[in-house]
Amino acid sequence: MPRSAPNALNKLLEGNRRFVDGTRVHDEFREDHRNLTSPQDPVAAVLTCADARVPPLELFDLTIGDLFEVRNAGHLARGPSVGSLEFAVIHLGVRLVLVLAHDDCGAVKAAQAVKAGEAEPQTPAIGCIMESIVPLLEGPGDTDPSLAAETLALAQLERIREVSDPIRRAEETGDVWLLAALVEHHGGHVRLLTLPPRDPSPRTP
Ligand SMILES: [Zn+2]
Repeated sequence: MPRSAPNALNKLLEGNRRFVDGTRVHDEFREDHRNLTSPQDPVAAVLTCADARVPPLELFDLTIGDLFEVRNAGHLARGPSVGSLEFAVIHLGVRLVLVLAHDDCGAVKAAQAVKAGEAEPQTPAIGCIMESIVPLLEGPGDTDPSLAAETLALAQLERIREVSDPIRRAEETGDVWLLAALVEHHGGHVRLLTLPPRDPSPRTP
């Protein structure tokens, strides 16, 4: 299958469908998984939360070498994270960059508590995470963690476009798709939050 953004998205969504249906094909450790010497050839780059309940390889029914994962609490597009995504696009030829939010995000809920004056960041480093999330919590996102997670993901898309010339240019030419999605914890369904640019009526994910 040729490398392209549409093919990459199809591979991820088909894998997530298998995950949801309980028909994963990568659900067993195989001997070839021990071989890590082959060059990586990821189908996509995923910026997602560090939350242990959001393992991208499993959610998309992929295996070692298939996915370039960039993770931090709150899936924030900040310096090293954006640089990592640029590495995936420029050096690994990744054509799909997916910002993957999730339900029940602890970073989002902590930021909501900070914004409400109910809590303080426990350390300066945690404070840096809160400073990136709190300003985005407006309206329903003040109290609804899922809506806030969606808002946060969409804001990260814009942030990537703002700070990364190579990714923005690749998106403008259509070589790279930059999309956002959300994992529903109940069932593990990945729901697209933005539509692919060249397909105005994609199938329901
Ligand atoms: Zn989270």
